[in-house]
Amino acid sequence: MSAMMAAQVFYEPEKMEMKSVNVPVPGVDEVLVRVKGCGICGSDIAYYYGQSSLETKDGKGPLILGHEFSGEVVEVGAIPEKLGLFQKGDRVVLDPVQYCNACEICKRGMPNLCENKAVLGVSTNGGFAEYCLSNYTGVHKIPDGVTYEQAALTEPLACAVYGVSKMEIKLGDFAVVFGAGVIGALMMQLVKSSGAGKVAIVDTLDYRLDIGKKLNTDYQFNVAEKDSPYYTPDLKKSIADLTNGKYADAAIVATGSIPAMEQALAVTGRRARIVYFGLPADDAVVKLPALQSILWDKTIRFSWLAPLTWPTALQAIANGLVNVDMVHTHDYPLSELAIGIADVRARKGNALKAVVKP
Ligand SMILES: [Zn+2]
Ligand SMILES: [Zn+2]
Repeated sequence: MSAMMAAQVFYEPEKMEMKSVNVPVPGVDEVLVRVKGCGICGSDIAYYYGQSSLETKDGKGPLILGHEFSGEVVEVGAIPEKLGLFQKGDRVVLDPVQYCNACEICKRGMPNLCENKAVLGVSTNGGFAEYCLSNYTGVHKIPDGVTYEQAALTEPLACAVYGVSKMEIKLGDFAVVFGAGVIGALMMQLVKSSGAGKVAIVDTLDYRLDIGKKLNTDYQFNVAEKDSPYYTPDLKKSIADLTNGKYADAAIVATGSIPAMEQALAVTGRRARIVYFGLPADDAVVKLPALQSILWDKTIRFSWLAPLTWPTALQAIANGLVNVDMVHTHDYPLSELAIGIADVRARKGNALKAVVKP
């Protein structure tokens, strides 16, 4: 008789059940991990409520969701065993984007765009369970001094590292981060650690701006709530005033909001780099002030997933360049995953990142 484990199996929108299922058996190229912490991501919430935006099979049941997780190695397949890569008891975190390392796209150094990729918790079973399998190439050791809970935030941080790298922050830059949720709260710290002189953050919720203030951002702006102490009726003018009319050197948009991207274009100046990171709706279109962008020699970029940024993300946590503890606000037992998903969606208790502990 094979061993059993508890798992939250997602079937269809708003239907998920805690079940006893077989512990998966690792193949030759896999590692079996005992899950220690698995973050609830915005995409888990979208899948749970049947709001996955792109036309794909991703996030469709029956499936164990959860792609932001750390754990302990309990079994090692023949190949990683032979290579001496991992041992039972290793503390690890898993890159859920399991690319093939063999297709033309991977070989050209674009693994985030691999056409053969599987994504744990999205297209194959993920971390909302006691155990999970990973291809050995997606397994990263957790540096000493970093806890399992902290490591569970590596996935969003690695995505943030990739996006922020495209801002090409130079010493002393004035940078603006749009969206102060989980990703924005990680990005604002990376921007500062990258050498920005001043960092402004923009959101529509004061509790997020409060956290951003505690994370040592220089300026906070609420562009929606007139009663907010952070309110500005004219963000462009506010940024112009702070920069003597030069505007920002770089901006990143950590929200799918189209007005936020349009504001990012408006508040940036000469040679500015603007990175669009958040996921907009399928049919969303950004209006671009084309001539002004050309005359100021701007660079507009997009950012998707986290190719080759995992070691950097783990080092950023280990070296204290990013405080992930302030971003991690709530915990739930595995049995209360559905409650956790609903709470995070409703921003109950001013939630940012919630971590499930199987
Ligand atoms: Zn995620
Ligand atoms: Zn590939």
